[in-house]
Amino acid sequence: MEIIHLSAECYPVAKAGGLGDVVGALPKYQTQMGHYAKVVMPMYRTKFLYQHDWVVDFKGRTNLADWWFDFTVIKEKDNTLGFDLYLIDINSLLDRENIYGYSDDTQRFVAFQIAFVNWLSHWQHKPDVLHCHDYHVGLIPFMVKYCYDYNHLADIPAVLTIHNAQYQGWMNWDQSRLIPRWDTWKGGLLEWNNTINPLAAAVKNAWKVTTVSWSYLDELRYNSNGLEALFEYERGKCVGILNGIDADVWDPATDKFIAVNYDAENVDEGKQETKQGLCDEFNLNPEKPLVIFIGRLVGEKAADLLPDAIISSMYSMHGNVNFLVLGSGEPHVEWQLRQLTHTFPGNYNAVIGYNEALSHRMYAGADFLLMPSRVEPCGLNQMYAMQYGTVPMVRSTGGLRDTVTDMGDWQGWGIRFTHASIGDIVHAISRAVALYYDDKESLTSMRKHMMQINNSWENSVQQYLNIYQSLKF
Ligand code: ADP
Repeated sequence: MEIIHLSAECYPVAKAGGLGDVVGALPKYQTQMGHYAKVVMPMYRTKFLYQHDWVVDFKGRTNLADWWFDFTVIKEKDNTLGFDLYLIDINSLLDRENIYGYSDDTQRFVAFQIAFVNWLSHWQHKPDVLHCHDYHVGLIPFMVKYCYDYNHLADIPAVLTIHNAQYQGWMNWDQSRLIPRWDTWKGGLLEWNNTINPLAAAVKNAWKVTTVSWSYLDELRYNSNGLEALFEYERGKCVGILNGIDADVWDPATDKFIAVNYDAENVDEGKQETKQGLCDEFNLNPEKPLVIFIGRLVGEKAADLLPDAIISSMYSMHGNVNFLVLGSGEPHVEWQLRQLTHTFPGNYNAVIGYNEALSHRMYAGADFLLMPSRVEPCGLNQMYAMQYGTVPMVRSTGGLRDTVTDMGDWQGWGIRFTHASIGDIVHAISRAVALYYDDKESLTSMRKHMMQINNSWENSVQQYLNIYQSLKF
């Protein structure tokens, strides 16, 4: 089958979160299973662009409302990622250093989608499926059905995967002129609550919708930033498929970012050595349990609770615990987390920013990973943590509920709690601290057990293939 993945992110080309990880891995495993998977994404000015060789595949010209623009599709020459990678270059619009965060993001992503369908309309054949990831490419299923210039592509099945329904790409109706000439009788298929809502449009127009865990799919009907009724109505075409982890990138036995490679057999020694390095670098005490947080510092991740939870834990556990935080996001949370470095030197440190290499060392060197998320579609951090023998402490929600059990349950591992509240977080940390000091044997066997859990992509890849297959007529 020929599968076209459309996405704003793809690791290692450009990544801001889990979306990048998934789009960097899923096509690779599909290719390994004998399918022809391609990724098409915007051409940003990232390191990857300059470190690889490219060939021009197509040059086109089209328009965004009354702005005519030229675009170029380039293809990575050596297939280093294990699948065909195409970047669309739109001069002055897409070729920027960051993926998101510009005032003209709407124009950028709509233009990207228009350039893609324009390119596709020049192909001599049709692919078997268009697999759209999140709202940035959510207008494509509508465009191929109802834009007059492109509706000869309407018979190509379009699948939407929702990695995060919080962000929906809302556009005012006056921006409807950005979408290429479309059948105005079909306005209802773009609309939700009086705005154009690209995520809602994708749910309505895609042939099949997947979310990245079963529990998240369930939760969307009660909590999806305004789309609850839509998910209730469309539940028949929605399926949950858990993300996997890419063992080529995330494996402590081969990871190039960590000082000492280890596996389940020598997990305690391997982790201790990496922990020592982290503690030296960040002025922490390697004898104490190391709790880490990695992620976007936003409300979804309950990052606003971290400062108070850390302060309370530090006092209630009499400083017998270390914290290391890596993340960036809301300025007031960043500021509070920075301030804490002065309050608890020797016990706490924070790196505000994005650092892929450090994240690997933290998963490897930490004892516990904290994820108090209010919303977590799948969550990859907890799976990486388990792979590296780090005990996840998670709020029971979305994908966290589907992938982590509680050590109090029969054959359980990990620590689960119910509420995104200071009380629940501090209680979870106190359980972790007790496990670390009082029951090292259980901690070691939990580490070994987690490292043997199979969170690989194989299962999930097959489920995606089954979905594509079911759409073929
Ligand atoms: P989300 O996509 O909602 O941000 P996920 O848990 O699905 O959350 O994926 C997060 C991914 O981003 C993981 O690979 C995590 O290691 C990575 N990540 C998040 N923040 C940072 C950061 N500041 N530095 C390095 N990696 C980060």
